[in-house]
Amino acid sequence: MARTIATRFFVDVPLAAGVAVALGESQGHQLRSVLRCAEGDAIALFNGRDGEWQGRLTGIGRRTATVALEVQLRPQTEEPDVWLLFAPIKGPRLDWIVEKASELGASGIRPVLTRRTVVSRLNLERLRTHAVEAAEQCERLTVPPVWEPEPLEDVMARWPAGRRLYVAAERRGVAPMATAIRADGAPAAILIGPEGGFEPTELDRLAQLGFASLVGLGPRILRADTAAVAAMALWQALAQLPLADRTGRAHIA
Ligand code: SAH
Repeated sequence: MARTIATRFFVDVPLAAGVAVALGESQGHQLRSVLRCAEGDAIALFNGRDGEWQGRLTGIGRRTATVALEVQLRPQTEEPDVWLLFAPIKGPRLDWIVEKASELGASGIRPVLTRRTVVSRLNLERLRTHAVEAAEQCERLTVPPVWEPEPLEDVMARWPAGRRLYVAAERRGVAPMATAIRADGAPAAILIGPEGGFEPTELDRLAQLGFASLVGLGPRILRADTAAVAAMALWQALAQLPLADRTGRAHIA
């Protein structure tokens, strides 16, 4: 009986038929000790550029594992372009934000330092590992880059033309995010403040930026990690659905 694909891994090398790919040490460990894979098992690989490929494990040693690529399972396709900007928070909640942002399709994960941000030093390597593992697990074809933290003001000053920014603004009585999201295919970004919230003057300034809209996420004050996931989920649910369809779908349901 044909074996199903044991797992999928991200690798940063070109993928094509006949290529032999050497996996990293932690991937080899996972295959050997966690998944108990053997030579001949099917593995899927992606690199963010060449689509997804199926290969067979041809060598599995103590520190190495090699995959011989056979067929392309999926071509690379364009993915929605939405960054998650957020003020970094402490501990496991930060890892959780990165994992969920990767699963929910963020095209970039950007820690930004706001006035009340209390965490400024980040273990980017650990965060990048979370982004990779979430991408492997959720079957997306890219891994969102985790950017170096930057002051919010600098990020706003160098904002790319044409990218719409949805600022999750607590306690402002602003329009619900669901009504503000435009389904025009333009690149977008979501900004979530720190546990202490934005400073009022910070929100005032953001409100004046032509590319930014202040949006609400409901009547309750959410924790920053909850707000990030709620906003990402909302964006991915609505951004690809033209406004006209939104009410139509509601009636069908
Ligand atoms: N301590 C602050 C709340 C911060 S919540 C206070 O008591 O006011 C952390 C971040 O989550 C906020 O900066 C905002 O970006 C987002 N957020 C939380 N609840 C929200 C809501 N109901 N609407 C919009 N954004 C919200």
